[in-house]
Parts: sequence; C-alpha cells; structure tokens
Amino acid sequence: MIDRLLKFLDASPVNFLAAKQLSDALSQAGFRRLDPCEPLGKVKAGDQFFVTKNDSSVCAFRLGRKPMAEAGFRMICAHCDSPTFRIKPNAEIACEGGLVKLNTEVYGGPIMSTWFDRPLTLAGRVIVKGDDALSPRTLLLHVKRPLLQISNLAIHFNRQVNDGVKLSKQKDMLPLLGIITGELEKGNLLMNVICGELDVKPADVLDFDLYLADATPACTFGVHDEFISSGRLDDLSMCYAGLEALLAAPSGDTTQVLAIFDNEETGSQTKQGAGSPFLASLLKRIALSQSGTEEAFYQAVERAFMVSADNAHAWHPNYPEKYDLTNHPVLGGGPVIKFNAAQKYASDAVSAAVFAEVCREAGVPCQRFVNHSDVAGGSTLGNILASSIPLRGVDMGNAILAMHSCRETGSVADHEYCVRAFTRFFS
Ligand code: ZN
Repeated sequence: MIDRLLKFLDASPVNFLAAKQLSDALSQAGFRRLDPCEPLGKVKAGDQFFVTKNDSSVCAFRLGRKPMAEAGFRMICAHCDSPTFRIKPNAEIACEGGLVKLNTEVYGGPIMSTWFDRPLTLAGRVIVKGDDALSPRTLLLHVKRPLLQISNLAIHFNRQVNDGVKLSKQKDMLPLLGIITGELEKGNLLMNVICGELDVKPADVLDFDLYLADATPACTFGVHDEFISSGRLDDLSMCYAGLEALLAAPSGDTTQVLAIFDNEETGSQTKQGAGSPFLASLLKRIALSQSGTEEAFYQAVERAFMVSADNAHAWHPNYPEKYDLTNHPVLGGGPVIKFNAAQKYASDAVSAAVFAEVCREAGVPCQRFVNHSDVAGGSTLGNILASSIPLRGVDMGNAILAMHSCRETGSVADHEYCVRAFTRFFS
C-alpha cells in the first residue's frame, strides 16, 4: 500500500499533475468523466462519475441506492496544492559567464531554507495555441530529471549562517537553470526545455503555470522503514488515502463524495478552490436530477457528513515545548482530530465523536490535536466549505513533521490506518 502512495507522490509534483493522477485512477476504476458544460441528465443509483475544474480540482461521486435527500452523503475533502515557487513570466535572468537563473514567486508558505541545495525540477501546465483565442490547449509538463538548484551562499561569506538567516523571496530563492552555450540559446533556455519536453514550437506556446518541484523521489526511512520522506505529504497523502478508500469501499445506500481542491495554501478563494460554489453547484445538480426539487439539496446537506482531511502536526522530539501539554499526536499513533476554540477547525464534540467511532469500528487508533495556547496554528478546508454548505463535519489529518518543508516526514502506519478509517467511513 505504501508503494502506491510513494508512486503517486512522485507522479504528482504539483497540483495539475496530482489532479491528473486522481482523474486517471478514477477513470480506470470505472468513474465517468463528466463535462460540466453538458446537462447532468438523469442520474441513477450506483452511478460513478467525476468532474474537474481548471485541471486542478477534482470532485468524484458514487451515488447511493437512496437519493441524497433521504440518505445524505458522506464526503472526504482534501487539497492537492502545496507550497512551492512559481516561475514568473519573462523568467530568465542572464548572469556573468553565461549563467542563467530563473525569476520566481513564492506560492503558499514554504519553509524556504529547505529548498536550498537539492536537485529541483519543473512541473505544471503549458498553454499552447488552439482553434481560436478563447480555446487554447493545455499540456501538462513534468520534467523528469534534475533541472535546477537553488544554491546556498558558502559559510565563508556568512559565518553567522547557523545562527539563523533572514531570506529574501526575491533575492535568495532564484534557481540556476544552466549555462548558455551559444547565441541561439540567449533568452531561450527555458523555452527550449518546454518545447523539447512537449514537442511543440516556441511560436505556439502562449503561456504557462510552471512551478519548482523536488526532483528526488519519495522514500521510506527508519530502522523498520516506519517513516515517509517526501514533499507534499500535506496534503497529497490525504488526497490519496481518500482515493484508495473511495475505490475500495462498496456502494451502499449513501452517496460517497471525494472532493479534492486546489489553492488551499493561498486561501481557497479561486474558482477551483474550496471557497467557490464548484462543489455546491455539483451537489445541487445531482439532488435536482434525483428528486426534481432544490429542496432535495438542502435535505441532503442536513443529512451529510464531511471529513475535511488535511495533515496535522506530529510531536517533534526536538521541540516538545511547542506542543500542547496534553494533546500532542505522535507519528504512528493514527489519524488526528483537530480542535480549535476559535473555530479555525470544523470539529466539535459531535463530529469528533462520529469520526472517533468510525476509527474504532475500523480497528484504528485515533488521536486529538489542539494548539499550544500561545501558538496561533493554521487553518484548513473544513470551515471554508461549511461557510457555503453548512455541513456537519470534522477536521482531521495524519500527523507529520516539518509541515511545508520541501521534504516532510510522515508515518507508514498512519497512512494504512487512515485508508482503513476512510474506507469504513464510506462503507
Ligand atoms: Zn494542508
């Protein structure tokens, strides 16, 4: 099971590729890709389909034997974007000796120092000419070799480097791409890579959304191979656990929903983010198709339950003072229910009780997380979704170390626990 997760992580260096992996897996499992431009038509029990938005969000549905108005729906949601660096337009910067570096912009909140001195690559989407101006074509790009590196300043130029360094997003985070070997390459180094990889002509390339990605494959480590080392565990590990559970779960009375959103790391306020009506309008269309009234949608929402799955912080043995006194989940201790008195998380006693019972039924341990009261902590999808669809739900996730590092640390056992708990939830 863990090998499948590692493969998925390696094939998903950025949001667009993750959405493609999820879509391909759904198609292979017999889920129909629906074109949101077309009418939904009459849906029936057992139907399996999915819809994508912006090539970067995916919502999949397996309809239950009972209409949603009667049996509600069970939903797992997660996000497929992770902190990284976006390549700016006109990115090439020519330097001394023909060296070329790329201009970048920060996406989300990475631990920037973790991006230094490691082989990086490029991934994302490239937009090429289509039939007319309003219908360009999208090609996905994943350069599968080390292509760039952001190099540190030698310690001899900064003896205080180990006392902490303030980093400039604009000055320090620009990766080296190559050395120009001739006139023809001047200003074209990046375009040559894009065109070579995709087999397209420079004149056809209209624009791109390209990002830096770690070029080193995900792996397990530890005496018993009990840990996972990978970028983007937050939140691709939850996306993949949700997918495995959806594909493993039998169909039943209740509709099953897997909703994977883009742009959680920048606040979810995009057309493909959890703050948009994307999911709500799909649920409305299904409810209308089943029952013929909008009323059905509101009944479905009242009967539904959401698991908002986003990674949690594992207890770090080097920094115990950062954690709550009595609630500090550990690696390998099972899925984590997240609480926050200021309601940054959707969990309350009712929804936590539901999820803890699901874990118990699945034979899976479960833990609880609360921030150290002097630490602000993060937020996630649950309440953003609940603000447009008032769903009962829980915020949870597997515990990881070094969240938003280029290379996070997770637990093999937790992944297996999570898939079991999610499968039970859908069943
Ligand atoms: Zn996250």
